[in-house]
Amino acid sequence: MSSIALLPNPDNFVLPNSVDEVHAFWIAGGSCDGCSISAVGASSPSVENLLNGTIPGAAKVVLHHPVLAVNAGEAFMKPFRLAAKGELGKPFVVLCEGSIMDESIAAASGGYWAGLGADKDENGDPQQIPSSSWITRMSEHAAAVIAVGTCATWGGVPAAANNPTNAASVMDLLGEDYRSTLGLPVINIPGCAPQGDNITETIASVLLFLNGLAPLPEFDELGRPQWLFEDTVHQGCTRAGWYEEGTFAEEYGDKECLVEIGCWGPVVQCNINKRGAINHVGGCMNVGAPCIGCTMPGFPDAFAPFYKTPPGTIVSSTISKATGSVIRNLRRMSMAYLNRTDRWNEQGHVPSGWGHVHEQSTLRKVVHYAYQKMQYSDSHKPGSNT
Ligand code: SF4
Repeated sequence: MSSIALLPNPDNFVLPNSVDEVHAFWIAGGSCDGCSISAVGASSPSVENLLNGTIPGAAKVVLHHPVLAVNAGEAFMKPFRLAAKGELGKPFVVLCEGSIMDESIAAASGGYWAGLGADKDENGDPQQIPSSSWITRMSEHAAAVIAVGTCATWGGVPAAANNPTNAASVMDLLGEDYRSTLGLPVINIPGCAPQGDNITETIASVLLFLNGLAPLPEFDELGRPQWLFEDTVHQGCTRAGWYEEGTFAEEYGDKECLVEIGCWGPVVQCNINKRGAINHVGGCMNVGAPCIGCTMPGFPDAFAPFYKTPPGTIVSSTISKATGSVIRNLRRMSMAYLNRTDRWNEQGHVPSGWGHVHEQSTLRKVVHYAYQKMQYSDSHKPGSNT
């Protein structure tokens, strides 16, 4: 995937004066709150780092989150109202969690799908303000709109086939022509739930950019942070060595590659295996779960049924088994010699009390001799002058 810097001249978008405080408004659409849970579990940086302003050069974040807030009622809603009118007096970003439901469907029966706060109608009765309305209004004045999680970035589970809400993404709501006050289209951090550090690191990168202390973060053509979503799950998987050697798990709990029991990792862009779930621990394949593609726009329907061998695997794992069986045997042969010292080779015997180590066959010794000739073809073998 190509690297795309979406802005022609980033210098034009750096704020003229550095800011010491940026407000962040968290707005939930159709969601399970998993993205919020994920964000508060982040550690590099943590939410506390962002709120306390302990990242050198980055503005302190003032968070307005409906679940984490101490304020309630109109005291909580007032900053939202000011931001929606462009009267907050401080730069702010909008963080969207959850998909955008089609409120016209709910309104037809007098209800709503997802909302925050209320306005009075002509009769003085409170009417819920839909989340989509907040996003539309606040996005006009926002320094950045960041969609957090697969529901907000692409539609996700609420947008699965036959859903009754006509759910869609923040990008679908605001459209391709949307630009924030800094000239940015919607930034997308997918994942169900997204890796928490992916959320906080992206926010921190934007904050540093705002103050001219870091380059404009690069985003791909779908607005994903390029450095986080460029590689596939498979490229960072601790089981990739098994795949390469054509050895596959047959049931859950096996240690080998999970592709034949439903892993889509080779075609899914996500860094969960490299980064871990929380504090560099866990992560799907690291704990035995096949990748079901939760960071991808096609999720969930394009990956259904889950835990079934992906069709492409028939070709790739067959080839891998064929080549892997050769590679595996050659490596085991090298490994047998790497498990010996020169002294043991000269003695023709390994003095281990733990078990009997078989001597290598004549054929293997010949292959190893040829291997070493190649290894030291343009250098001295340690301890030798020839
Ligand atoms: Fe690739 Fe999945 Fe196998 Fe890991 S478990 S090596 S991601 S196919």
